[in-house]
Amino acid sequence: MVIDAELEKKEIIGRYRRLLRKAKPILNDGDAKLIKKAFTLALEAHKDMRRKSGEPFIFHPLAVAEICVEEIGLGTTSIIAALMHDVVEDTDIELTDIERLFGKKIARIIDGLTKIRGVFEYGTSQQAENFRKMLFTLSEDVRVILIKLADRLHNMRTLDSMPRNKQLKVANETIYLYAPLAHRLGLNAIKTELEDLYLRFTDRAVYSSIAQKIDATRAARNKFIKQFMIPINEELNKLNIDFEIKGRPKSIHSIFNKMRKQNIPFEEVFDLFAIRIILDTSLEHEKALCWQVYSIVTDFYTPNPDRLRDWISTPKSNGYESLHTTV
Ligand code: MN
Repeated sequence: MVIDAELEKKEIIGRYRRLLRKAKPILNDGDAKLIKKAFTLALEAHKDMRRKSGEPFIFHPLAVAEICVEEIGLGTTSIIAALMHDVVEDTDIELTDIERLFGKKIARIIDGLTKIRGVFEYGTSQQAENFRKMLFTLSEDVRVILIKLADRLHNMRTLDSMPRNKQLKVANETIYLYAPLAHRLGLNAIKTELEDLYLRFTDRAVYSSIAQKIDATRAARNKFIKQFMIPINEELNKLNIDFEIKGRPKSIHSIFNKMRKQNIPFEEVFDLFAIRIILDTSLEHEKALCWQVYSIVTDFYTPNPDRLRDWISTPKSNGYESLHTTV
């Protein structure tokens, strides 16, 4: 492989600037300077390392930091820790260096991240134990788990360049540990992507076939959602409230689970998509309003009473509050 060092340097700086741009709205005075310090340290520490794909290693911590800020909504402390999350394990930098340069809080998070990695060295037979340990760490500083999830998400997104046996090991760990963890923390988009990536690397044929069918039916589905919403839109507008409607297909993994559990082909999975009605209202009115909207929906479409889930009266332990139904 021929490496154009100048071009690579430009690309690294470009990615670093992109991270800063995304973090900008949440930065306080002095934060940018600290992020730069962490980036400079990581860049220097990893300078001779490459990923399996041949890319400079620093692309990875930069991507993990970007996931933290953009997809999880974390702040400066996490960005700094994400940028340096692999330096203690993989380079000559020691935890005491981190503590001296960035303080106790950052050092503790990086220590947690390094330790979680050690937990997996024993293989998959200890999953339950690993899970317990991870949750234990969680109580110390939840950011350790969140950055670890960002780390895993990026590793799953770039799993292509790994050898087959490694792909399977990482994918299995992901489905047993990280996806449920993301679910428990209420990070649904990340949970879904992890599950879909798992399927992509463990059963590529099934994955591609479902992905292709979702794609092929997109136009018809969007049209259906639009039609479906017309009368509801009208009624909601009469209520004079702020609302937003989102329709989206179910994840590839969840469609596959349905097909497998009910032993049916793609064409017979009836709930291929979900529609979300998001209401913007005051805290004291939200419960009543949700039920009012439920009542509007069921005026037009017959609900299946077995499919009603009320997470408003009893929210999920991660704080999720919503009404679900199938009509
Ligand atoms: Mn990493």
